[in-house]
Amino acid sequence: MMELSQRDITYCKNVGAKRADILRSELGVHTAMDMLRQYPYKYIDRSRFYRIAELDDEDTYVQIIGEVTEWHTIGIGKAQRLSATFFDGTHQCELVWFQGVKYVKLQRNVKYLLFGKPSCFNHVYNFVHPDLTPMSKVTPEMTQGLEPYYNTTDKMKRHGLNSKAMRAIIVDLLPDLKAGIPDTIGADVLQKYRLMSLTDALINVHFPKDALSMQNARARLKFEELFYVQLQILRQMKRREQYPGFAMPTVGSRFHALYKALPFDLTNAQKRVIHEIHDDLKSGHQMNRLLQGDVGSGKTLVALLCCLLAVDNGYQTCIMAPTEILAAQHYETLKAFLAPLGDAVHIALLTGSTTPKNRVPIHNGLMNGTIHILIGTHALLEDAVQWQNLGFVVIDEQHRFGVAQRAKLWTKNETPPHILVMTATPIPRTLAMTVYGDLHVSVIDELPPGRKPVQTIHYDIKRRAQVYSFMRKQIDAGRQIYVVYPLIKESEKMDLQDLENGFNELCEALPEYKISMVHGKMKAADKDLQMTRFASGETQILVATTVIEVGVNVPNATVMLIQNAERFGLSQLHQLRGRVGRGGDQSYCILLTNMELSGDTRKRMNIMVETNDGFRIAEADLQLRGPGDMQGTLQSGTPFELHIANLATDGRLVALTREAAKDILDQDPLLEDELNRIYKRQLDILRIQQSYNWSEIS
Ligand code: ADP
Ligand code: MG
Repeated sequence: MMELSQRDITYCKNVGAKRADILRSELGVHTAMDMLRQYPYKYIDRSRFYRIAELDDEDTYVQIIGEVTEWHTIGIGKAQRLSATFFDGTHQCELVWFQGVKYVKLQRNVKYLLFGKPSCFNHVYNFVHPDLTPMSKVTPEMTQGLEPYYNTTDKMKRHGLNSKAMRAIIVDLLPDLKAGIPDTIGADVLQKYRLMSLTDALINVHFPKDALSMQNARARLKFEELFYVQLQILRQMKRREQYPGFAMPTVGSRFHALYKALPFDLTNAQKRVIHEIHDDLKSGHQMNRLLQGDVGSGKTLVALLCCLLAVDNGYQTCIMAPTEILAAQHYETLKAFLAPLGDAVHIALLTGSTTPKNRVPIHNGLMNGTIHILIGTHALLEDAVQWQNLGFVVIDEQHRFGVAQRAKLWTKNETPPHILVMTATPIPRTLAMTVYGDLHVSVIDELPPGRKPVQTIHYDIKRRAQVYSFMRKQIDAGRQIYVVYPLIKESEKMDLQDLENGFNELCEALPEYKISMVHGKMKAADKDLQMTRFASGETQILVATTVIEVGVNVPNATVMLIQNAERFGLSQLHQLRGRVGRGGDQSYCILLTNMELSGDTRKRMNIMVETNDGFRIAEADLQLRGPGDMQGTLQSGTPFELHIANLATDGRLVALTREAAKDILDQDPLLEDELNRIYKRQLDILRIQQSYNWSEIS
């Protein structure tokens, strides 16, 4: 018998050349083993039989035993439909077929097993395209335990590869599976974490005896999936730790000069983090570090001080931001911080909108080493950008830069630069351990002193007048206000309309004040002008789309009014709120929503009102947004694909698998031990599968 992982899917029963082609292209199934790795997305309990009188839920599949008492066809050709009456001895329901009518063969006085999803119309239950099997053909297996359902694509369905066909292919592999297959996890780990063998898990994930064995099977498969993600991440991390990096031992004059010139003391958390980074910089190994800290915790300054550490050691540095506005803002902020140092530090700004003429001196300055700190967007990754000596890179607001983009930076120098990734929003632990699992983590868990927590209020639009009078009071006390409108990508025209209507409404409601407006469609120069007017205090209100989401710093602004707050996600709301509360005055965030809110939206608003803690908000966000979104984040930045584990709900497993993988690598970093051969082998298989994913994102 050929091993399941070696057996070409083409030669499995119920497959053949055509279907094999489709399975390969649609699902990436090449072998019998790949087929067994297609896990069901749901199960239906076939051990339960219903009576028609019992039906009350339209969403679940049910099975009923009865007879077909009457049927007739209506219409002709393609429009033909078949309608039948099904009787279970006491009540009746209707069956309907729109397609393949000529293939439906019905007989009177025959007991059938009806299986399908009921819907109710005019007090009569009906089933569209039900499964109808004569009882004489019903096997005990059909009505035993949980029946698996498989994801299929339209193309698969067109070729008869529906869930039932998938099941038939898999059923046929069971005897070979039951003979036992090599495990992918060592016996010691299986025992320690009380996991099923791979053989048992695959049998029970497809054809579970009961709910418990299904859950145990899934737990084992989730563990396996996450375990290999961790094994890869940690091995990569260990390997990288061996790479040579630029040694930057000196704490030099520029660093000291800025430190002394600061108008405030660093927080203890900032100092600790700078020490952690400096330890890496002087180690002689390349640094890959994630800097987490809530909005306003002072990450930018930490980044700048670390850049100066590198510059003092003779290296160039860059800070990469996700948007032009943010890059420009960083540039201005850093220039202001560096002003006391005069000519000692040269910084430059390079973005997509830097003109070709202005690029020339920047490119030259980078080549001859006269530019010390370059601030910019993705434009920094262009091939034309060549450095004399790039030694330290800061990536701000990481979530929009994937692992692949990070990797690209390495090609900028023979020795890879040190990399510091800063996130705008705290990241839930499970994500930090996967998406950023290859990075060492530093946390700024303290805000600069004297900050008053922003007070958050949720109002519905009925209370708009109240909001206006509150705004008036704040402006009259000398403060400034942000008013933010959501951006919906589908219709930028409509967004702009919303924004302009809002702007006009505000002008009418508060005619005595000056109002600036910025949005994504404006020319950079106009945007700058409006931003500058607001930052300088010339205008009191800034009306904007989410372009101001990240980075803007106007300490005199004390009110953040978010229009249609129901349209924003939690982390976005938290980011926006972080724009106020930066000065010494009490600040407010007003969430203005429609009156009718969904349960989830209400929860989001409540969490915002309850807490200012970015880490709590990140956790809540993960729970509410669920796995789909998070999986997207995972996949946009890494080659990992999760088929069964769920980062939102399997957090405990993420931690356990990281521990298990770490135990193994700590003892045997290169997996050379005979005992660990299975891991090495499985990693090789995964690497081949993932090379495909990598080519997609880089
Ligand atoms: P983040 O990028 O973490 O959201 P910023 O770096 O923008 O935060 O810092 C927010 C504000 O706090 C800035 O105005 C910054 O100058 C100021 N700041 C940073 N560190 C301190 C500190 N130790 N004491 C007082 N203010 C600080
Ligand atoms: Mg910042």
